[in-house]
Amino acid sequence: MTQGRTAGGQDAKDAKDARRGLILILSSPSGAGKTTLTRAIAQKSDWGLDLSISVTTRARRPSEIDGRDYRFIDREAFEDLRTRDDLLEWAEVHGNYYGTPRRPVEKTLAQGRDMIFDIDYQGTRQVRQRLQDDVVTVFILPPSFSELRHRLERRAEDAPETIERRLANARTEMQRWSEYDYVIVNDDLDESFRALQAILAAERLRRSRRTGLSAFVDGLLAEAPDPR
Ligand code: 5GP
Repeated sequence: MTQGRTAGGQDAKDAKDARRGLILILSSPSGAGKTTLTRAIAQKSDWGLDLSISVTTRARRPSEIDGRDYRFIDREAFEDLRTRDDLLEWAEVHGNYYGTPRRPVEKTLAQGRDMIFDIDYQGTRQVRQRLQDDVVTVFILPPSFSELRHRLERRAEDAPETIERRLANARTEMQRWSEYDYVIVNDDLDESFRALQAILAAERLRRSRRTGLSAFVDGLLAEAPDPR
């Protein structure tokens, strides 16, 4: 009997796969490649991760699309969301406000699905405090500081003074690396993808998330011969 009913009445096959949803948070200084990684992962449907779309008061870059990359809103609308407790977390980064809308996250988790966030260390702390063990955090480091500068300049979507501000902030951001569960040095995108895939696979198998395991093992034990 491989698919019998367990004590809880749940199908044994479902029981062994049942688990709580998780939130994978990626943080890094601007230019370390985190946004590229996050967006690409969210597009790979076999990874099963929904992307959280943040709201921000920052100006839209030419390549960005409202509703796909961010929801671009003004300060007044942002403050409204904050007052109504519609944000799971929020922070001021590089002089602009950024926040994660709470409802889409609650909806996704309630459906037993996983989510990926691209947020800074201040937001990570708030999400960790609210959702605790449902959160897995990854910090992405650049291979060198000169590479970080090079990537920001190559992107050429920000004004030179914005780039300088981001580089100055990178120092403070990089010092937060030790607050994260995992650290990836993004030397090579393919390698970083593989590392993230491994982290996700392992975290999905974590015993504490596997809500159906007891029932599944009870079913196994019920079939095993009693040594007495
Ligand atoms: P950028 O302006 O380059 O898109 O993002 C600047 C920084 O803001 C990045 O470190 C990014 O991770 C962070 N960020 C983006 N969305 C959010 C958010 O919703 N909350 C927080 N706390 N940080 C965010």
